[in-house]
Amino acid sequence: MKGIAILGSTGSIGTTALRVLERQRDRFRVVALTAFANGALLSEQAEHFSPDFVGLVRSDTREPARAGWACGERCLVEAATLDGVDIVLNAVVGAAGLDATLAALEQGRRVALANKESLVMGGDLVRSAARRGGGELVPVDSEHSAILQCIAGRPRTEIRRLVLTASGGPFRKWTNDQLERATIADALQHPTWQMGRKITVDSATLANKALEVIEAHFLFDIPYDRIDVVVHPQSVVHSFVEFIDGSVLAQLGVPSMELPVLYALTYPDRVSDTGVPPFDPVELSPLTFEPVRRDDFPSLALGVQAGRSGGAAPAVFNAANEAAVALFLDGDIHFGDIPRAIESALARHGGLDSRSREAILSADALARQHVQELFRC
Ligand code: NAD
Ligand code: MG
Repeated sequence: MKGIAILGSTGSIGTTALRVLERQRDRFRVVALTAFANGALLSEQAEHFSPDFVGLVRSDTREPARAGWACGERCLVEAATLDGVDIVLNAVVGAAGLDATLAALEQGRRVALANKESLVMGGDLVRSAARRGGGELVPVDSEHSAILQCIAGRPRTEIRRLVLTASGGPFRKWTNDQLERATIADALQHPTWQMGRKITVDSATLANKALEVIEAHFLFDIPYDRIDVVVHPQSVVHSFVEFIDGSVLAQLGVPSMELPVLYALTYPDRVSDTGVPPFDPVELSPLTFEPVRRDDFPSLALGVQAGRSGGAAPAVFNAANEAAVALFLDGDIHFGDIPRAIESALARHGGLDSRSREAILSADALARQHVQELFRC
């Protein structure tokens, strides 16, 4: 029996994981659950799975913490480092996931990582925490799970190139002018995946694909000039790996996060499960591929360039994006303002240092402040 902590159990990935764990009760025990604010759902989950630890980050009069629950930001690290936890599924959204990723790796735990933002902002720091503590990072992101499955233990020297697939999001065919005027409702209409609001907007700007290129760089230790992106509107091919002999492997499946979540828990083994709908290649046809419209979706190139620049640039990219997406979702800025905010924050703060957790958090805070001030009238 492996003990699992789920950070962000009330979200899209968190609830997906609990569906998987419900079917896999003989292999895994839910030891800890945390959420930001949805105390009612967290309470239902806690009653059903009887974890040892429950944490609610924000408990106020609307969301009173139940007796015995932990509260405040620290509950993420507490859950991640609790005795009896073998695997931490980090399914928190945004930079708030960083400390739990670091703490779990320092303690030699496996981190099943959905929270790509923590790896993007603190890539070197996260990798050295894993080296020091003996922890292990296993991706939950479908593209990176696909790559891990294709690599299947082969050495990095045999990999020529990674090709991440991107659905293209809801605006794949929109003109540049239409994009400027895209509404919140338009941006939240993802064609192939049902996800949380922040990642859904990231998929519409393609900032998500930039985060994923940086994530792939740190997970698989592949240089940026050997990581490509191709648009694949059906989201059936989850990514490609090209090897040095020219062979290309891909991992396919009906879009569902249940498999990548389960695989991150059982890796390198596979276990019998029924989470993914049956695969019928005729029904899923045709599978098509297109180049990315890089000029119309500038967040992708900005993020990849931030990755290449290194230092605090990826953290600044991530924080500026998070701040701009929050403003967009509050109705305060236009869709086209998101990449403008990122570009401006990177120009101002992209050269900052990233050698410590404190340096990264400071760059993160400066980038957020920069975006706030940019749109203050
Ligand atoms: P979501 O918004 O549906 O859920 C987020 C969860 O994190 C919720 O449980 C929420 O309570 C918690 N949370 C939010 N802010 C928090 C904070 N400040 N402190 C602590 N907890 C907080 O998001 P999601 O779609 O499940 O995505 C979670 C992560 O997984 C993101 O990093 C996303 O990029 C990644 N991811 C998601 C999908 C998907 O299909 N949803 C696919 C690949 C990767
Ligand atoms: Mg993905």
